[in-house]
Amino acid sequence: MPKYYQPEIETASYDEIKKIQNEKLVKQVHHVYNNVAYYRNLMDEKGVSPDDIKTVDDIKKLPFLTKADLREAYPYGLLGTDLKNCVRIHSTSGTTGKRVVAFYTQNDIDLWEECCARALVAAGGTPQDVVQVAYGFGLFTGGSGLNGGSHKLGSLTLPMSSGNTDRQIQFLMDLGATILCCTPSYAAFIGETLAEKGFKPEDNTLKAGIFGAEPWTEEMRHDIERSLGIKAFDIYGLTEISGPGVAFECEEQTGMHINEDHFYAEIIDPETGEVLPEGEEGELVFTSLDKEAFPLLRYRTRDLCVLTRKKCSCGRTHVKMCKPKGRSDDMLIIRGVNVFPSQIETVLLNEGYTPNYQIVVDRENNTDTLDIYVEMQPDQFSDVISDLQEREKALAGAMRTMLGIGPKMHLVAPKSVARSEGKAVRVVDKRKLHD
Ligand code: ADP
Ligand code: ZN
Repeated sequence: MPKYYQPEIETASYDEIKKIQNEKLVKQVHHVYNNVAYYRNLMDEKGVSPDDIKTVDDIKKLPFLTKADLREAYPYGLLGTDLKNCVRIHSTSGTTGKRVVAFYTQNDIDLWEECCARALVAAGGTPQDVVQVAYGFGLFTGGSGLNGGSHKLGSLTLPMSSGNTDRQIQFLMDLGATILCCTPSYAAFIGETLAEKGFKPEDNTLKAGIFGAEPWTEEMRHDIERSLGIKAFDIYGLTEISGPGVAFECEEQTGMHINEDHFYAEIIDPETGEVLPEGEEGELVFTSLDKEAFPLLRYRTRDLCVLTRKKCSCGRTHVKMCKPKGRSDDMLIIRGVNVFPSQIETVLLNEGYTPNYQIVVDRENNTDTLDIYVEMQPDQFSDVISDLQEREKALAGAMRTMLGIGPKMHLVAPKSVARSEGKAVRVVDKRKLHD
């Protein structure tokens, strides 16, 4: 069984990787300066010329790009090549505002799909596998990325797209899918539906899942692994940089290897923009080293995480990123306390509840309120009010320990929280309505 899709580069020494990055970066900075007027202006304003960039250590001289730049330059302002050389457009999911678009040449698509093929092989994928792609197809990058990666690997690909869960399950069972690719929240829903239909985890042929595009906790991973009887691997990416496969998890399941030969990663202090040393938490910043059509330099992802070069038992040498804790703009500030939805998910799953929950933040008499609605499992369901109140109190206590503030807990009936087929919407912040 092949262990790597591109062994030479995936296990290259740090010096080799650095050499490749240096060469590509010098070339890419010239490419951008000569072709992207928007970024050339930013460089000129900062007084930096392409000749100032000789190695990746000089990258900190370059200006950052943010989502605001992408919106301002929409649609063609950051194109790095003539539109006639482009073969495809994708768009972000618009989770945090107006969508932005990204362009691809055929070469950009090929490199991106190779990254996804690396992810599939790292999850145990081979040409003999049947890969069910249940990420959405269309403008969203999830479906196309894994579909292309599966083709490159030579696996039998089932381009299901998301939704129509009954049909997903029918094909999964009838066609013997061995690898499932979708968002973690959809994987949890598929697992739940299989159980409802009377299937046990060992009844399906799945061996692995590649789940990403949204934050998910270790607790959620265990839950999915149990319900589907598989090993669940994380995958990370963003449309602006290509799509899924910017980074992927290996068998060690302790973070995701960033495809460093294509994407140069930095961690910065989100307040000051200063580059932080390995091991410190901050905002992830990417530079596309090969992209022709949409070559972003120092793009601020707003995802908070940590990088590590600790040796990995899989033999891959590329730097690893931890699970992003969430975006800096996912963080809720409630009564002055920083709260991440992922912390709430951890408590709920640890306390034996389902990952079906919704967080509602509001403001009453100038004070922030935090309400968490969580479904009970059918066996937890009780119509004795005092039982429910006891449980809610216990859960609120566990939340207070984790978050530092106490929410109001609402245990609701099984099936009353909407399921997600793509990226789950966990938070409703009503305070914005009052502003
Ligand atoms: P949008 O930013 O509109 O959601 P994308 O579909 O391109 O558009 O999503 C990219 C974002 O999704 C990333 O910046 C990150 O916040 C999130 N994301 C992607 N993969 C993961 C993952 N494995 N874990 C946590 N968050 C992820
Ligand atoms: Zn590894």
